[in-house]
Amino acid sequence: MSLITSQKNFRFRNWAGNQQSAVPHYYQPETEEQLTDIIKTHGKVRMMGTGHSWSALCHTDEALINLDKYNKVISLDKEKKQLTIQAGIKLWQISDYLDTQGMALINLGSISRQSVAGAISTATHGSGIGYRVLASQVQRFTLIRADGDKIVLDKDGDKETFDLAIINLGALGVISELTLNITEAFRLHEQTVAIDFDEMLARLDELLQTTDHFKMWWFPHVSRIVLYRYQRTQAAVNDSRFRQWLMDEVLSVLVYRFLVFIGNIFRGLRPLFNKLLILSFNKPLDRIERSFKVFNVADPPIHREAEWAFDLKDAKEVLGAYRKMIDESDHKINFIQEVRFVKGDEYALSPSYRRDSIWIGCYLIGDKGWDELLADFEKLAVKYNGRPHWGKEYNIDKEYLRKQYPLLDEFQKLRSTYDPAGKFSNPMIAAILAK
Ligand SMILES: Cc1cc2nc3c(=O)[nH]c(=O)nc-3n(C[C@H](O)[C@H](O)[C@H](O)COP(=O)(O)OP(=O)(O)OC[C@H]3O[C@@H](n4cnc5c(N)ncnc54)[C@H](O)[C@@H]3O)c2cc1C
Repeated sequence: MSLITSQKNFRFRNWAGNQQSAVPHYYQPETEEQLTDIIKTHGKVRMMGTGHSWSALCHTDEALINLDKYNKVISLDKEKKQLTIQAGIKLWQISDYLDTQGMALINLGSISRQSVAGAISTATHGSGIGYRVLASQVQRFTLIRADGDKIVLDKDGDKETFDLAIINLGALGVISELTLNITEAFRLHEQTVAIDFDEMLARLDELLQTTDHFKMWWFPHVSRIVLYRYQRTQAAVNDSRFRQWLMDEVLSVLVYRFLVFIGNIFRGLRPLFNKLLILSFNKPLDRIERSFKVFNVADPPIHREAEWAFDLKDAKEVLGAYRKMIDESDHKINFIQEVRFVKGDEYALSPSYRRDSIWIGCYLIGDKGWDELLADFEKLAVKYNGRPHWGKEYNIDKEYLRKQYPLLDEFQKLRSTYDPAGKFSNPMIAAILAK
């Protein structure tokens, strides 16, 4: 048996750098047996995927498990269209592998750097009103509970427990294996264009109904908004590698980061820079590319982020209210605000639980002004009955969360069976689930 990679006094730091802590014991197991041993050895255990969450989910004062070395493809069943993997595999590794097999993930978010278990545990999502959060692609998963026992939950088996447990914030145990429902490889026909914000509001229903995957980027202080429309297709790829390099590496990285740098010195210039940036969308983009290449965008700069899900029926009102809030405030925003759409589901801890949702992302590069922006955004989000993304930033109001998540008590009951002593708890889990 190979030795477990471990480290004492590990320094945990998330992607954004807003969460950092000293961890007494850090492990990277390579087998399920090793994983189980670690769980049994320690009184307190947390897991981290790639640390792409802004929230304090991964903190622990005892043991942190990372599954980077538990990341293999176990089997692919092309006939059933199912892929079984170890939980530490990254979404990009899955897409790359499936691409070689003529298969693909059904849907993706904006990046694929996350581990599959980490992405599923926080209800990570993409966009498309006919598509649910990524956890909906899971057919079955194996969970190792606090006592080291292993259970398998299948959505066609005990559906009630599956729906309670699939989005779990790492509070029920360690996910060790997953079987995903996948699809044949497909391409996306992308049509991207900027239009007036008011025109977008007037056309929102039509845009949603006629597009497989529709999302928007709004540069605050600008009256136009960028519409991203992706249609699923089998037509041939026609995008140019040069264009991708120019946009994803030169414009998005070099030019944009230079403007952000200047905007940090002269904050008053930010609205002007946003007006310049929207010019790059003057010429509509029309291209066909492999699905995962279109779903994913260029690596964003380090930034602060909150994102809430609202009932789709309130979409126009919330969008209008958000624009008004920004326009009438002193916030000077140097990054896109993202708007996405997700089909409702039945998962107890999903922000899209039982409602088709519009997700609005409030983003800012840099810490200055973030607390004030977050406070204003949350005031608005609460007014419209929003539900926060678990992996992003939010201030916990436990009474409000109880109102928004009617199955929290059921989740707690399951948790007290799987983890009676709170081995997988930390201050944030305790605060979210507290009565
Ligand atoms: C640049 C960027 C872009 C993003 N884009 C999107 C997007 O498009 N859509 C979206 O919805 N979100 C997005 N996110 C948020 C991100 O998808 C989530 O925060 C996700 O949970 C991060 O995955 P991770 O592997 O880094 O997990 P971590 O952040 O490390 O952990 C997240 C949670 O998963 C738990 N966990 C990890 N492994 C296991 C396991 N094996 N068993 C049980 N629990 C486990 C952890 O304990 C923790 O509670 C983005 C984040 C960044 C930084």
